[in-house]
Amino acid sequence: MNINENYKNLNESYLFSTIAKKVSDFASNNPDTEIIKLGIGDVTLPLCNAVIEAMHFAVDEMSRKETFKGYGPEQGYDFLKSAIQNYYKSHNVSLELNEIFISDGAKSDLGNILDLFAKDNTVLVPDPVYPVYVDTNVMSGRKIVFADANEENDFLPLPDEKIKADLIYICSPNNPTGAVYNREQLKKWVDYALENKAIILFDSAYESFIDGKNLPRSIYEIENAEKCAIEFCSFSKTAGFTGTRCGYTVVPTELIFGGMSLNKMWLRRQTTKFNGVPYIVQKGAAAVFTDEGQKQIHENLNYYKRNAKIIGDTLDKLNIKYTGGKNSPYIWLKCPNNMNSWAFFDLLLTKIGVVGTPGAGFGKNGDNWFRLTSFNTNENTQKAMERFFDLFK
Ligand code: PLP
Repeated sequence: MNINENYKNLNESYLFSTIAKKVSDFASNNPDTEIIKLGIGDVTLPLCNAVIEAMHFAVDEMSRKETFKGYGPEQGYDFLKSAIQNYYKSHNVSLELNEIFISDGAKSDLGNILDLFAKDNTVLVPDPVYPVYVDTNVMSGRKIVFADANEENDFLPLPDEKIKADLIYICSPNNPTGAVYNREQLKKWVDYALENKAIILFDSAYESFIDGKNLPRSIYEIENAEKCAIEFCSFSKTAGFTGTRCGYTVVPTELIFGGMSLNKMWLRRQTTKFNGVPYIVQKGAAAVFTDEGQKQIHENLNYYKRNAKIIGDTLDKLNIKYTGGKNSPYIWLKCPNNMNSWAFFDLLLTKIGVVGTPGAGFGKNGDNWFRLTSFNTNENTQKAMERFFDLFK
């Protein structure tokens, strides 16, 4: 037996364990300091009532012989796919039901989609980046090239004609930078992909943080994207499903490469290796799209957005440069005095008991940048940013 040697090429993920160790050491040496965590990448508000009621109803259905459900369709129930289809329609994107695939979240689909592509493809990944895009490709031994996201391009890199890539990862609104592409910028990526016969893997996990209609929530708002893009989305951040697990992937039927339909390949892959998301969970996810559900999830999203505004307003007052915070739960700030992001982490922890995430953990372009998130409470966020202001004023 030979193992997959590519696993030897993975970088150890020290980021969150190092942070946890530093925080716990500090806490035990300074028991009187109240530590506030603005590094949280998980939601903290509970599922909304509409979701809970739908799931309770579904549990009762599972308890009766007449309404009990066994295996469902691997690609998801039509009731949820129709709800998603209508949601896209409300943003002027028309999808067929067979283009929508329900899953247990975006992370699995982002990893599993690579089953469809040959190992000798070159992958283009922005730096800094959500580490899953890099690690899943390292595991299968693909060549990775990086697109620099930095202060000069407002952390929104555009295609470089000199770089030839076959698979292109785009995350907008972005984790970790919070930056969001506009339509003109996304069109450049779509044009580049079409020209190079490449596929865009578009991660829209944070689309529900976008306000208004000016910025695109879906790559399919861009003309011809259905010929070159797969979209991954999730109920995790939209509706607090990080622990409940549900997401979806859109694979347009127009994606034909090497004589093969990517839509049919993905269906074949999912029906072979996946047995579907629990009925109860899909019922909960469908409730997100009811009028009541939409109202309730937006109350929660607005709660997080208030935190993002508290953080952004403080940075504005201090003249500290940042991206995100407006259509995203993430605020990506430039460390004052050109500090290194780990030194800045230590400074915030030891001087004011506030925890964030050093940008270096997301790639080399994050060395002097720092991520704060809006998932703590309004009260804690306010308190943390008052301490932050006093430190840097
Ligand atoms: N994509 C991005 C950019 C994320 O930040 C996350 C989670 O933090 C995910 C995908 C994963 O989402 P899910 O919970 O649906 O697996």
